Amino acid sequence: MSRYIIKQTSLLIPTLREAPAEAEARSHQLLLRAGFIRQLAAGIYSYLPLGWRVLRRIQTIVREEMDQAGFQELHLPAMQPAELWERSGRYGAYGAELIRLQDRHEREFVLGPTHEEVITALAASEVNSYRKLPLRLYQIQTKFRDERRPRFGLLRGREFLMKDAYSFDRSWEELDRTYQAVRDAYRRIFTRCGLKFSMVEAEAGAIGGEGETHEFMAPAEIGEDTIVSCLACGYAANLEKAAAAAAGEHSADEAERQAPAIEKVATPNTRTIEEVSAFLGVPASHILKTMIYRADDKPVAAVVRGDHEVNENKLAAAIGCVTLELADPQEVLKVTGAPHGYAGPVGLDIPVYLDRDAVLYGGAVAGAGEEHAHLRNVVPSRDFQPAHIGDYRSVQEGDRCPNCGETLHFAKGIEVGHVFKLGTKYSSVLNAGYTDEAGREQTMIMGCYGIGVSRLLSAVAEQSPAEQGMCWPLGIAPYSVHLIPVSAQDPDQAAVVEQIAKELARQGVECLVDDREERPGVKFKDADLIGLPLRIVVGKRAGEGIVEWTDRRAGGRTEIAWQEAARLAA
Ligand code: ATP
Ligand code: MG
Ligand code: MG
Ligand code: MG
Repeated sequence: MSRYIIKQTSLLIPTLREAPAEAEARSHQLLLRAGFIRQLAAGIYSYLPLGWRVLRRIQTIVREEMDQAGFQELHLPAMQPAELWERSGRYGAYGAELIRLQDRHEREFVLGPTHEEVITALAASEVNSYRKLPLRLYQIQTKFRDERRPRFGLLRGREFLMKDAYSFDRSWEELDRTYQAVRDAYRRIFTRCGLKFSMVEAEAGAIGGEGETHEFMAPAEIGEDTIVSCLACGYAANLEKAAAAAAGEHSADEAERQAPAIEKVATPNTRTIEEVSAFLGVPASHILKTMIYRADDKPVAAVVRGDHEVNENKLAAAIGCVTLELADPQEVLKVTGAPHGYAGPVGLDIPVYLDRDAVLYGGAVAGAGEEHAHLRNVVPSRDFQPAHIGDYRSVQEGDRCPNCGETLHFAKGIEVGHVFKLGTKYSSVLNAGYTDEAGREQTMIMGCYGIGVSRLLSAVAEQSPAEQGMCWPLGIAPYSVHLIPVSAQDPDQAAVVEQIAKELARQGVECLVDDREERPGVKFKDADLIGLPLRIVVGKRAGEGIVEWTDRRAGGRTEIAWQEAARLAA
């Protein structure tokens, strides 16, 4: 048989009858049950042959579109000297998500969670003239992030596949064009992968940067992000950006001027969300979270509003790193951890605020209280120098769109891609400069662009319609056609299967043949789990050359001549 025809007996496809108890997300269940992935440790997965085929097909699409957009593929090291991260200022700032290690000479290294440092250092040493710019590079590589809460299978892993791209331009105008080219490429990539998605305005987070940033969101209930959109004018933003828009753009200076002094927080009177709201001078309904900042602008604590669902991963990322143990929200709140400096009460869906009774020690906050589990004994200590309180006003479903005044809608989404105009954030500190036409020294203007390749696979599975089992979009399916003889022993069936297989191979259609000697029920159950989009069942009427054809994307079964089935599959 040809390379297009694969016998199921030759493949490792360890399907499971039952949904594993640990898998909460539908995509996680599907991928485990279909034998696409297996967990090795929390957030760390092996991709088995079928899962890997899907990933390879996604990668092929990503490569084609990135190449088309003028990007060159390279491959950067996962193991990176800590010194480089110290130079960019992220060694401390990245917090506990950064996996740190030492070599035998006790030199410090990190496992790359992203590659701005490495690529900027490379550009700094290899490019020095305007003639070599613009430069557009990308890679597809394993990333390491010690996520606080790895979960939902490949959606939030600690080791995962990312496509990351970086651009080096000579001006902001040039960056604008690159940014547009990447966004166009992303639209094509996600469309070809069969994903429903939308592009939303975002806020620069830990990666930082001076310019615009957008996220590509796949609508799904399990998503940890909130897409805020207006159907009337097409406005779409993530929750953080929409909240910032609602609050009005304000500079850090302005925030500082407006913010009350820290002492005010440490009054025993700020005990309810209303009091906090009065204290901050914003309506209670408009407080999502309030950060208390250190003098260097690092947030250390948050006030969280009760009826908002809180994305713990995001809050934790925003304020540093914490482990939260909440035995009973009404009684005990304990926050521990924060090995790298900052912490605060996060991830609560109850109002939490600091008052005089909370203790702040070692960069972490701990306390116990009653009522709303407010913290007790706030005693700023150590290097802790609270500077001001800033507020993030939230938006609610049904609020007015900032553009057109119509109603805003909320939906849950999975962040599958992210594009950033970085400007000179990294190029300035890592000395990525060049000489322009006039012989003057200039700093490269950068952009960075990520796609969660392994997360994308799960996002597609998450979006598959719940009524049927998995059905992979044709563009990324491990194989296009599942060819199933009901009885592997039957000579008529074997003859028809042989003919169809030959014809499909001739047409270059990839086909999985279930040549196992299993009961039909077992074969069909497995086929539903594996989820190939097209299915040809060869059964009772094989002698007449009649087979059963199913395009699972549309549903329904029809009996047709095998030649017709082979034609439809092509
Ligand atoms: P999130 O907000 O979900 O934590 P992020 O904003 O930290 O993601 P980026 O730094 O923007 O992620 O990385 C680029 C892309 O990598 C993301 O858009 C996402 O698709 C993917 N990604 C990030 N973290 C993970 C993870 N832990 N597991 C799988 N994919 C991830
Ligand atoms: Mg993250
Ligand atoms: Mg994000
Ligand atoms: Mg992001």
